[in-house]
Amino acid sequence: MILDCAVIGGGPAGLNAALVLGRSRRKTILFDDNKPRNSVTSESHGFITRDGIHPQEFKRIAQEELSRYPDVRIEKQRVHRINKVSPLFQVETENGEVYSAKKIILATGFKEVLPDIPRVKEFYGKSLFSCPFCDGWELRDRALAVIADDQKAFHMAKMVSNWTNDLIIFTNGSKVLSLEEQELLKSNGITINEKKIASFIGEEGMLEKIQFEDETEVLREGGFIAAEWKQAACFQSSLEYTLNEQGGIATDSWQRTNTEGVFACGDTRIAGPSQLIIAAGEGSMAAMSVNAALIEEKFKPEKKHV
Ligand SMILES: Cc1cc2nc3c(=O)[nH]c(=O)nc-3n(C[C@H](O)[C@H](O)[C@H](O)COP(=O)(O)OP(=O)(O)OC[C@H]3O[C@@H](n4cnc5c(N)ncnc54)[C@H](O)[C@@H]3O)c2cc1C
Repeated sequence: MILDCAVIGGGPAGLNAALVLGRSRRKTILFDDNKPRNSVTSESHGFITRDGIHPQEFKRIAQEELSRYPDVRIEKQRVHRINKVSPLFQVETENGEVYSAKKIILATGFKEVLPDIPRVKEFYGKSLFSCPFCDGWELRDRALAVIADDQKAFHMAKMVSNWTNDLIIFTNGSKVLSLEEQELLKSNGITINEKKIASFIGEEGMLEKIQFEDETEVLREGGFIAAEWKQAACFQSSLEYTLNEQGGIATDSWQRTNTEGVFACGDTRIAGPSQLIIAAGEGSMAAMSVNAALIEEKFKPEKKHV
């Protein structure tokens, strides 16, 4: 059977794309190997009607809703390869199954690379986070840290100061703040610490102290850490879509990549804020775009041969 669309990735972006496609009566398959980056956390915030929900519960509800639509099928396996075999796409899974689809939606998310600081992974997602809009409210008014050793440092410190008056920025041995930035931070009550971090200290992911290489320590209860963002998708592919400056998949406002028939949505674009509701919105838009493209193909006037 030729599918209308194969959606790769079943986070909020892919799930919402599949919902809109199912409601549009499009034969859709959604592949997901369930390794989202927010698996380290137990609560997702900021999605109206779902504020505070466990990420896996969010997925469970979404999959249950999709089960109402007979044209949508979920395959809980990894996509290994995607090839264009004109005019279709061939999607091959890790189990060696091959599916043919008219359109592809890439919703594979991104991976973050945390700074190489001992024990950082124990705290990430529990008391250290990357996005204050996601977790700032839960950490409000506490003794917080911003940990950033690159150009994001100044911006992050300004942002996080919205949630607490007790903020220290740790640059982990780097000199990334200009004199002007240092003055601005200090005049807003933000302390700067440029020592090299030796380790994070605390129990069960709850930060208590930051320890430095010179063996001094600073008490902190949580905070925000700058991470590098990289494409999560690592399948082989003959698709030649362009990447943007951040390394994400470039799209227009209709989620179209520059490869005809290939759409991308959510974190995989590494553009703008990384949020469930934004990923879901982009998934919806990608599905409408797929639908529009299929309708245009159906109503295309046939070429007359003379
Ligand atoms: C610690 C932490 C806390 C967060 N808290 C919040 C919050 O409170 N509120 C909020 O709005 N956002 C939060 N986020 C951000 C949020 O998780 C992301 O913005 C959102 O999950 C992006 O959705 P997505 O569908 O684009 O990608 P993802 O949710 O990452 O989903 C991508 C899916 O695609 C699958 N996949 C990838 N490659 C393949 C393949 N080849 N084959 C099959 N499947 C594949 C992955 O396994 C994954 O399941 C948080 C993130 C982190 C790291």
